[in-house]
Amino acid sequence: MLDALRRARHDLSRAELSTATGLSAQSITNIVRRLVERGLVDEREPVGSQGRGRPAASLRLDPAGSYAVGVHVDPTVTAVVLVDLTAAVVAARRTVAASATTPDELVTAVAAAVTEVTAGVPPDRVLGVGIATPGPVDTGAGVVVGAPLLPGWDRVALRSLVRDATGLPVVMHKDTAAAAVGELWHDPDPADFVFLYLGTGLGAGFVVGGELLPGSTDNAGEIGHLMVAPDGPPCPCGQPGCVGPSGMPRTLVAEAAAAGVLDPLPHDATDRRVDAAFSALCARAADDPVAHGILARSAGRIARAAVTLCNALDVGAVVLGGPAWSRTEPVFLSIVRDVVTATTEARRVHEVDVRGSALGDDAAVVGAACLVLEHAFSARPATLLIR
Ligand SMILES: [Zn+2]
Repeated sequence: MLDALRRARHDLSRAELSTATGLSAQSITNIVRRLVERGLVDEREPVGSQGRGRPAASLRLDPAGSYAVGVHVDPTVTAVVLVDLTAAVVAARRTVAASATTPDELVTAVAAAVTEVTAGVPPDRVLGVGIATPGPVDTGAGVVVGAPLLPGWDRVALRSLVRDATGLPVVMHKDTAAAAVGELWHDPDPADFVFLYLGTGLGAGFVVGGELLPGSTDNAGEIGHLMVAPDGPPCPCGQPGCVGPSGMPRTLVAEAAAAGVLDPLPHDATDRRVDAAFSALCARAADDPVAHGILARSAGRIARAAVTLCNALDVGAVVLGGPAWSRTEPVFLSIVRDVVTATTEARRVHEVDVRGSALGDDAAVVGAACLVLEHAFSARPATLLIR
């Protein structure tokens, strides 16, 4: 019933809830009473009734019924949020970047941020912590395997470290999968889409039939080695023109330096420094045709990857988001939309909507919190919450 209420996105009458769940009127009455007692559901008497008959009372989730914490561990910044039962953000903090600290220091900083964002909320209403990290992840063991984007992180047992530091149940997933789950909770029409995650790296999350497609080990979405440009930059995998390097801020900042748009960075520049240079490149694209051209070429390559994914999965939408999204959107959105609209195989059967994420740059951190809500309230959760 909670899942039906949150998916409805508007108040439901008891009759509508009965239709949505297949439960009898008597069962609905019994369960609603318990959910209201527990503070999870708010039942409102009808207002503004006109004509004969008593209109039905409406049911909705009580936002203050439960809360969940989201943590996004990223090479450039670690973000922490608290969301309420409707997945709305009620508090947010930022702390040290994962690439600039050790796992132990990061866990200490995360635990402090969790304490701050949950201050003022009854402890028994905090369901747990969801963590989004760069892949690959071993979700069975709760381990960050050694992400290419997190040097020095070699099989870090992040889930148990955060559980021990916070005393809260913890769930963990890849950043791209968390972002897709966040979109599921916030987008009004989320049945089938590919989520293209733009950050320090490029990845994807797949949603089909309103559910995340996690893959056999929760590592689906590693799209970085789709070849999109035979003349593109070399990839560590040995193949030229992979979409991953073509879409990475580090590559684009180097291209901008080679073209004289930016001052060159040392090759061992930190991810934070690269990210700041990338912000400068994106800002210059508004009135510098060379800067614009660098971003536009990257967008064209990402668009080709999007078309391949649309053709493989026959989804109805491509959603773009992640930490680099708001900076790239002015150049990327129209290019990706035009290429997808013009070239997907299914275009004569249905349109493919190309849009920015409802959560924008915060898709992964809010999505991480939604993993916890999803575990608590979905009939088919994407992940297991480990206590
Ligand atoms: Zn490659």
